[in-house]
Amino acid sequence: MSEDHHVPGPPSDIADTLNAWRDLFQRKHADDIEGLNVLDATEDPIFSFYVDFADIDGDDLLSYRFNEYPEQTIELANEVLRSMCSEHTDVRCVLRPLVFPDEKIVSVSDLRMRNRSKLVSLIVNVKDVGPRLGYLKRARYVCTDCGHQEFVDQRVARERKRPGAPCKVCYDEAKKALNGDISYPLFRHLNSLLQLASEGSFYQDIQYLNVQNHDATNEQAIQIIVDDEYVDAYKVGSTIRVNGVVYIDPIPDRSFIKDTRRILQVRALSIEEVS
Ligand SMILES: [Zn+2]
Repeated sequence: MSEDHHVPGPPSDIADTLNAWRDLFQRKHADDIEGLNVLDATEDPIFSFYVDFADIDGDDLLSYRFNEYPEQTIELANEVLRSMCSEHTDVRCVLRPLVFPDEKIVSVSDLRMRNRSKLVSLIVNVKDVGPRLGYLKRARYVCTDCGHQEFVDQRVARERKRPGAPCKVCYDEAKKALNGDISYPLFRHLNSLLQLASEGSFYQDIQYLNVQNHDATNEQAIQIIVDDEYVDAYKVGSTIRVNGVVYIDPIPDRSFIKDTRRILQVRALSIEEVS
C-alpha cells in the first residue's frame, strides 16, 4: 500500500479492506478473472468488472467502507483488481458496482447539500453531452536532485495538489548534515525539488452529462461526471440509471467572498441503460 492514498481510517482498515476485496473477487469472480485471458488491450483498453451491490453489502467491512467512503473504497478494489488481473491480461479492469437497491433511488430534485459523499441511484434522461476531457488523475512528482518519486491523487476540477512535504530523501540528508537545523529558505528549496513529471502521471478521460429526472416532473438538471468506458457512450435522449456519489462543487468563476453557492454533481460509479 503506497502512502499517497489519503484514505480515511487507520492503515489496518485499509489492509483489511484490500483483503476483503481480494476475498470477494476470489469467492465470486474467479471465473471472470480467468476469462480475462481472451481480452486484448489493443481492442479495448478497459474492462468493466461488474460486482453486485449485494455482494459488497454482504461483507460487513466492505459494506461500511463502501457506504462511508465510496470512491476511496473503489480505488482500493481497483488496486486489488490490477494485481489479480495482471497475470491474465493487460486490459485495465475497472470495478463497476451494479444493482443498487431501490432504496438508493432518489429524484434529482431531492438531492441536497447534506447528501454530499452519499451513494445514490438516479434514473435520468440525458439532455446534453459535454466534450471528452482528459484530467490528471494521479500526478507523478520526481525530485530533480535525487530522482525520488511520489504520486499524488488529484480531484476533478480542482487546483493541482502537490506532495505535502519536500523530497524525503533530500530532506533527511539535509537534516543529518545540518544536525536537524533546517532553515525556512532551505525547506522551501527542498520543497521545490519535487517537480511534476508527465511520464508516469495518469490521465483519465471524463465527460459531463447534463441530465434531468426521467419522469420530468421537475425541470431541474444536474451534472453527472462519467469516466473511462462511459465516455462517449450515451446520447442525448437516452435514459440511464446512474449509480454514483454526490459531489458538491464551487461554481466556476464565482467571486469567492460574495458567492458561496455550490453546485451538486453526481460522479458515476456505474451506469445501467434503462429501456
Ligand atoms: Zn530528492
